[in-house]
Amino acid sequence: MVNASIITIGDELLIGQVIDTNSAWMAKELNTAGIPVVRRVAVGDVWNEIWKALDEESAHSDIILMTGGLGPTSDDITKELLCKYFDGKMVVDPASLAHVNYLFEEIFKRPITERNLKQAEIPDVCQVIQNKRGSAPGMLFSRKYPDQATPKIYISLPGVPHEMKGMMPAVLDAIRVRFELSHIAHRTLLTAGIGESMLADMIVDFENALPSHIKLAYLPNYRMVRLRLSASASQKEEMEKELDKHFLTLQQLVKDYIVTNTDEPLEAIVGKILLQKNKTLCTAESCTGGYIAQMITSVPGASAYYDGSFVTYSYKAKEDLLNVNKNTIVEKGAVSEEVVREMANGALKNIQSDYVIAVSGIMGPGGGTPDKPVGTVWVAIGKKGRLITQKFSFGFDRERNVISTAINALNMLRKFILADE
Ligand code: ATP
Repeated sequence: MVNASIITIGDELLIGQVIDTNSAWMAKELNTAGIPVVRRVAVGDVWNEIWKALDEESAHSDIILMTGGLGPTSDDITKELLCKYFDGKMVVDPASLAHVNYLFEEIFKRPITERNLKQAEIPDVCQVIQNKRGSAPGMLFSRKYPDQATPKIYISLPGVPHEMKGMMPAVLDAIRVRFELSHIAHRTLLTAGIGESMLADMIVDFENALPSHIKLAYLPNYRMVRLRLSASASQKEEMEKELDKHFLTLQQLVKDYIVTNTDEPLEAIVGKILLQKNKTLCTAESCTGGYIAQMITSVPGASAYYDGSFVTYSYKAKEDLLNVNKNTIVEKGAVSEEVVREMANGALKNIQSDYVIAVSGIMGPGGGTPDKPVGTVWVAIGKKGRLITQKFSFGFDRERNVISTAINALNMLRKFILADE
């Protein structure tokens, strides 16, 4: 099977200043196209390290994709290095030169410098992959090794994510011309309310009976577990049919815990249900500081069902914006069932949505007490006249507490709406 390695280049990736999202995105694209990624490597802008990475990945993969280090500054050495690695010499590429001139004259409207013009120089041993979104062209090299029937290919792309993404269709076309690809398919479902190990016990016989070309993966995240079946084969239709059959069995086995049998996030599922029922939602957030609103509005079209949020962090904001009674806060504490109930009722009264989510908790690292330790969260969800509350005890990590609160609140609401006629 044709496989790939990804090398991401840049000191910023190694010091943690920039998170390497390029390789994750490219791996997904390659996988969808039927090319498994077998290795991902990040290296600094260091000549020897890049060279070594190329040697090493050549021993593992048929396709080596690289991003980064194509810019006009002195720390960008990828182009020079590739020129040397493939025994080429630098020449001006007329199409790239015309494009750089066009970008500076028509788009950036800035005078062009020698440094910018150098972007149009490429090794004479590569094929250019046009970069419509930027000035650094992509480059494709190939090398035939004695023990290999098909030459390996090496593709270098800019590090800027949106430039790299714009070039990916051309990259995949160039790969398809050279290699016969298999088909890779996935089926994913999301479960809630059951831990990973209990799930594993529940489906142990199913898993053991799977043919070797179908793999099952467990992806636990914030008290929910995604199960993914993956298969690869040369016959697309047959493989899809077989995968569907096993996926159906899997769904039946875990039916009491399924949130969705698609690869969508929970906030999109909740959105779909609201849209289907023609209902609206508002939120009242204390400890999550708007995170739930952000999740909901990250789904395109959320305005059709989401009215908005009250981010009420202080006592005063809870009193002024949500009519929470000062005595309730003083007597029961801001993190209490009574306060989230009042927050939910206040939000419903002030926005008049059909459904509501209200949350209040102690996210940490400070602020915990013996009876309300860090990670204590109260959630209220429901509608006018009927609220359901639940207390959660998450962990000590602030970020995880925020995300766990949001996910569990959304899942409580999902179940409530589905049961609400
Ligand atoms: P340019 O020609 O535009 O300078 P380049 O090929 O030289 O592009 P880099 O200078 O390595 O690319 O990176 C440009 C920017 O792209 C970086 O500042 C960083 O924000 C982003 N970037 C680089 N590599 C990655 C990566 N692997 N994942 C996500 N972002 C990245």
